[in-house]
Amino acid sequence: VNSFEEECDYLFKAVLIGDSAVGKSNILSRLAKNEFHLDSKPTIGVEFAYKNIRVGDKIIKAQIWDTAGQERFRAITSSYYRGALGALLVYDITRRATFENLKKWLHEVRQFGSSDMVIVLVGNKSDLSSSREVNVEDGQSLAQLEEIAFMETSAKENLNVEEAFHQMVGRIHEINS
Ligand code: GDP
Ligand code: MG
Repeated sequence: VNSFEEECDYLFKAVLIGDSAVGKSNILSRLAKNEFHLDSKPTIGVEFAYKNIRVGDKIIKAQIWDTAGQERFRAITSSYYRGALGALLVYDITRRATFENLKKWLHEVRQFGSSDMVIVLVGNKSDLSSSREVNVEDGQSLAQLEEIAFMETSAKENLNVEEAFHQMVGRIHEINS
């Protein structure tokens, strides 16, 4: 039985957004396949992958969309966001610019996404603490300001990836039930 055929009580769409090379595709492959790739290419990406999760006595299936590198050209279109209930907004803690660009991403999500979309801010690559350019506190205060959840993750070391996803799903479930 593959994951398509597994019984589920709810199906929803979520999207991965954020600058190029912050680790979106690796977060998805960690979630969906428990895999990490050191040299993932921006153009190699699946359109989406599925992840099942249990919340209480319900099985929820998330269809998680990944970009195929089009974020490099700022060409993510409204169709990418259409129908999405959740978003993982990812930056790279070792590159300050990816944090500064979050304003632009938040603007875009709010422009194209539904008004009740659940956004979780994700500071990825927490394993690279020696090259950190964004403090945990910076992520926390932005999240507080924007009233969204926040978590630092490492797709490489498999730290907090599931937790970030769980936060998003739990909140979506709360809103929609
Ligand atoms: P995307 O463009 O946002 O999809 O980013 P990718 O998933 O393709 O990752 C870009 C690069 O960052 C790749 O070389 C990955 O191996 C690396 N990478 C992704 N996540 C992590 C992480 O948590 N820690 C470290 N050290 N490298 C990571
Ligand atoms: Mg990618």
